[in-house]
Amino acid sequence: MSLIDLTITELHEGFKKKQFTSTEVTKAYLEHIKAIDPKIGAYLLVTEELALGQAEAADKIIATQENFPMLMGVPCSIKDAILVEGQKATSASKILENYFAPYDATVITKLKKQGAVILGKTNLDEFAMGASTENSAYKVSKNPHDLTRVAGGSSGGSAASVSAKSAVFSLGSDTGGSIRLPASFCGVVGLKPTYGAVSRSGLMALASSLDQIGPFAKTVEDCKIIFQAISGNDALDATSADYNFKDSVINLKGLKIGIPKEYFAKGLDPEVEKIINHTTEKAKEAGAKIIPISLPNLQYAVATYYITLTSEASSNLARYDGIKYGFSKEAENLSQVYTKTRGEGFGSEPKRRIMLGTYSLSSGYYDAYYKKAQQVRELIKQDFSKAFKKVDVIFSPVAPSPAFKVGEKASDPLAMYLVDIYTVSVNLAGIPAISLPAGKIGGLPIGLQIIGNHFEENKVLAVAELMEKML
Ligand code: GLN
Repeated sequence: MSLIDLTITELHEGFKKKQFTSTEVTKAYLEHIKAIDPKIGAYLLVTEELALGQAEAADKIIATQENFPMLMGVPCSIKDAILVEGQKATSASKILENYFAPYDATVITKLKKQGAVILGKTNLDEFAMGASTENSAYKVSKNPHDLTRVAGGSSGGSAASVSAKSAVFSLGSDTGGSIRLPASFCGVVGLKPTYGAVSRSGLMALASSLDQIGPFAKTVEDCKIIFQAISGNDALDATSADYNFKDSVINLKGLKIGIPKEYFAKGLDPEVEKIINHTTEKAKEAGAKIIPISLPNLQYAVATYYITLTSEASSNLARYDGIKYGFSKEAENLSQVYTKTRGEGFGSEPKRRIMLGTYSLSSGYYDAYYKKAQQVRELIKQDFSKAFKKVDVIFSPVAPSPAFKVGEKASDPLAMYLVDIYTVSVNLAGIPAISLPAGKIGGLPIGLQIIGNHFEENKVLAVAELMEKML
């Protein structure tokens, strides 16, 4: 076994027993990145100097202290929409080509406090808008299981880096599926926490009422360790909750698992359905009760999500005006600075979404679009609250199909939006969900989505851990 195969727990044990140093592990990762990343394209930036400095500091602590945090000396990658002080942060947009982060995101402060090692910043769809990383202004991240296919998005670089063993773990963000989808496509574990469980301070905002930072890892246990490290109340994020995650032991015997019939309808690849059915069979054999449920408003989820998202994004992206941040185009007057900077700086997907959002928020259409979407969002939330009165967790697919080919949906935004069908309702409801590798179709990984009620990451993670063992 090589150093890059080890999980967080295994590295921690190895550091304790002085079997290897963080510097050795970090160097192994940096070499592997050099060898493999030109093919995969997971990274936008490799922060070699920062990583080696952090590894050296971690080694000093490991050498002198008996007990140290779980993430001490562990190398990770960070989605380029999350700020790391002094490092470039582009959100894969040309408009932030020369932007350097002036401070650390709260999650980065927490990782640094634990002694984690930052290997670099990973690729994404521009401003996290997309499901394949094909909307990145810089490159497409390829799927490590098949280089002709996408890694998923928007946090495709993060998922690909863990899948290709170019990082032990990664942080991404999930507004409508951007952690779970790439985790499913790349065959790694990805957790989207409850809205408010992890601080959003220092995450470039896409849609503020939906965005949430979360981990990618090789195992559920590793995901839990990272979630424990990054969650908790933060004065810098007004929507952050007073919540302390407590691990719990759960038995599958008697556990009630809901299967929403609307998730298994037209559009789902029958091979994916077979794999998800197999997971419920396994859970049943272990004593779980499988309960059919209904989430009747799922049919409106994609429309509700895209109206909400584009409205919030159009407002959030107004700050990139050529004055305050990054790229700026000289022009004769202020209005032209705005239009030229934004015209050249943004790619076509942000432009499309800014126009859609501005339209839904405009005074003549606000009631018909934005307000209506908020009313339907409430109904979707209620669907889940009713379901969680009957069941402990919900099982569903993450995506309707395995990873698609690079280019297959790139010129068809609607087809790309429909990939989000099973993930967006979770963000609209603000609840947690995990993507767990559940099987493969022709060598391509398929994720099982386990959805929980608000602040029940303990249940989601415990059930995922049991399923992981069985699968
Ligand atoms: N695919 C979704 C979108 O394009 C998800 C984005 C996300 O979660 N950041 O909006």
